[in-house]
Amino acid sequence: MKIVRILYQDKIFWGDLENDIVKIIKGNPFGEINYQGSVALDEIKLLAPVEKNKIVLAGLNYLDHAKELGMDIPDEPIIFLKPNSSILNPDEKIIYPSGVKRLDYEAELALVIKKKGRDIEIADINDFILGYTCLNDVTARDLQSKDIQWTRAKSFDTFCPVGPWIETEIDPDVLEIKCYLNGELKQSSKTTNFIFSIAELVSFISKIMTLYPGDIISTGTPSGVGQMNIGDTVEVEIEGVGRLKNYVGDR
Ligand code: MG
Repeated sequence: MKIVRILYQDKIFWGDLENDIVKIIKGNPFGEINYQGSVALDEIKLLAPVEKNKIVLAGLNYLDHAKELGMDIPDEPIIFLKPNSSILNPDEKIIYPSGVKRLDYEAELALVIKKKGRDIEIADINDFILGYTCLNDVTARDLQSKDIQWTRAKSFDTFCPVGPWIETEIDPDVLEIKCYLNGELKQSSKTTNFIFSIAELVSFISKIMTLYPGDIISTGTPSGVGQMNIGDTVEVEIEGVGRLKNYVGDR
């Protein structure tokens, strides 16, 4: 199932996308799903498939990226947060903040939490995951190097494109992940290169903070991160999930 969040006739709905038709979900997709009619894909706008939830991200979680940076393999996941005000819809513009000298893309596989959980055991993880989506962990790299904390570098409005939907039926541990800048392949890896598996990440995070329906966990980026400029088009593509496209602008 492809779960979408849509704008239709100035109202926001959750839906189930199949063959260019969106079946509109009553309420939200986190419990039992019931429908209330349908609408054609070309009559709606796709929104980031997330409400105002928390966004937890893993840093340095691909072997190829650790190698590229010449860094040791961490013995525990490195995690950080982005504010929900940074969420950006598919096909919208990442705003290049004035004063930032280097703006980078980071293609990532993200998962969406289905139900409230705390201290989740690795064996139980699948009960807590609704599905998977693409995320671009946009980063002001110069500020990340300058500040001790990553908060400023990761948190500008529009720095968290998510979408285009939540895919509920894939095996996340064997997927190809790619990033294209202006159509040119810049990142290409597989989730088999994860340092910490999705189950290990979710369990680890749930021992720090309670997870709620709609929370996002992003699983880190592979090798090949690089710079974006105003006028660029950036796309995150994940096998079996889809392609998330955004643009870079100055306003
Ligand atoms: Mg990242």
